[in-house]
Amino acid sequence: MIKGDQKKLRRIGIMGGTFDPIHYGHLVAAEIARSKFMLDMVVFVPSGHPPHKQNVPGHAEQRLMMALLATVTNPYFQISRSEIDRLGPSYTYDTLIEFSELYGQQSELYFITGTDAVLEMLTWRNAEMLIDMCRIIAATRPGYDLTDISRLPSNFCEKIEMLQVPALSISSSDIRCRIREGKPIKYLLPEAVETYIYKQRLYIKGRL
Ligand code: NAP
Repeated sequence: MIKGDQKKLRRIGIMGGTFDPIHYGHLVAAEIARSKFMLDMVVFVPSGHPPHKQNVPGHAEQRLMMALLATVTNPYFQISRSEIDRLGPSYTYDTLIEFSELYGQQSELYFITGTDAVLEMLTWRNAEMLIDMCRIIAATRPGYDLTDISRLPSNFCEKIEMLQVPALSISSSDIRCRIREGKPIKYLLPEAVETYIYKQRLYIKGRL
């Protein structure tokens, strides 16, 4: 019950990734995170210009469209254009600032992404400030060796929650490879995304 000035603490999941393309691994990770950490919503934020990548095969608007098609049936999932519309590299720190202004002090932010990306966090812009602003949910496939995560500084380790996701054996790079080689991608991602990929002739040639 909300009384007087007391407002309910909202828990917002921010699902960060290139999503090139989005697949069931991402969707299952977001849904498991939502239920495990009792998140009020999960906002998918496709990177506009990933700071650590020279080139991204899928055009930003197409990656965003695929994320939209994939998430439309889940009432707890939303999509943000934040990083796609922002000029320059997509720094997670800037995204967290934007979300904390948008959702206010009463909200708790959970940044969800792949464990391999989390392992690189010390190199991210304003990493020390970033870790003070949110909890990190590191999605990984079962059986992943957690030794590397435990080597991160203690202030990072205590903010990181590991999330084992069986469907994360699916990967975007494998899907791109399969398309290029003419192999099926059915059941690796939502049908609407598969149809969109073929219609737009994505990932057929060029960089993998
Ligand atoms: P990546 O290096 O392409 O991905 C690393 C691994 O994590 C891959 O196995 C990837 O699988 C997986 N992964 C990525 N996003 C995931 C998600 N939301 N849920 C589950 N697994 C995920 O990393 P990225 O996608 O470009 O970047 C991940 C996030 O870190 C983005 O939000 C990005 O903006 C942020 N980041 C920030 C900085 C910075 O602020 N300086 C630097 C680097 C990354 P798939 O290939 O199958 O997705």
